[in-house]
Amino acid sequence: MSESAQCWINGRLMPGSEASISVFDHGLLYGDGVFEGIRFYRGRAFRLHEHLIRLMDSAAAIRLTVPYTPAELTQAVADIVAAFAATEGYLRLIVTRGVGPLGLNPDNCTQPTVIIIADHLSMISDKQRQQGAKLIIASTRRLPADGLDGRIKSLNYLNNILARMEASQAGADEAILLNQNGYVTEGSAANVFVIRDGRLFTPYPADGALQGITRRVVMALATDKKIPMTVGTLTPYDLYTADECFLTGTGAELTPVREVDGRPLRYCPGPVFSRLAQAFTDVIYKETEKKCVFNAKAAKT
Ligand code: PLP
Repeated sequence: MSESAQCWINGRLMPGSEASISVFDHGLLYGDGVFEGIRFYRGRAFRLHEHLIRLMDSAAAIRLTVPYTPAELTQAVADIVAAFAATEGYLRLIVTRGVGPLGLNPDNCTQPTVIIIADHLSMISDKQRQQGAKLIIASTRRLPADGLDGRIKSLNYLNNILARMEASQAGADEAILLNQNGYVTEGSAANVFVIRDGRLFTPYPADGALQGITRRVVMALATDKKIPMTVGTLTPYDLYTADECFLTGTGAELTPVREVDGRPLRYCPGPVFSRLAQAFTDVIYKETEKKCVFNAKAAKT
């Protein structure tokens, strides 16, 4: 937490240093809740509509009622961004099952806890952005969808944390998780793309990839730029033999990859990555000129 962190809890805005929640909150006790990570640039949240739709979908999937409308959350986001000391930063929007007695049963948790944190984020170092990230393929596998559907952005990240720890242990920056079939899903907190012979490839959501909002922006940019694209099944071989590889995410933005499991990639940053990264920066610039007002119709398109 930085000194300038701000927090909004169930309608109350306060400095991050004063924020606290109950130890009986089921978000803490059981990871029972959902969240979104959102960037803001120039004082405006990027793709807020899409994040709110995904939050509402994640909550619906775990039978959790968010006690605020998307319009109210949009206002809360505007308030916390205005209170934050800088015009660029990161928001963590969390909805937990709320306070309840010990025990998994959520039926006695009557009031969900809604938290928004605004702070600086330095998930990717400048060195990684310039020189590219080192990846490993983790031995920890992505949880199967019939255990926990990967589309639910839940507070249960232990699986991803274990993979991330493997990366640190190996001196790498990020880990790629495979699914039970050995197919590439995504990183611990980012989607993955590879480029081979000018074509962009990214894994199927059904293979276990979160439908990342940054991923969606990149796919739209590839279509605009007439870069051929395949959403399909990838194996570690496709990563090892790629011309280029990169990660996408709210935290990672677009991060080039230089090496996978000790195999250097042909180009880092490569020409296709560089085109998309420039186009991504342009999209951020263009979209954050506008004021963010929740518009459900726009969010679905
Ligand atoms: N995959 C996982 C597991 C993530 O946690 C994230 C980021 O939150 C992503 C992918 C990228 O998604 P987005 O671009 O919506 O941030």
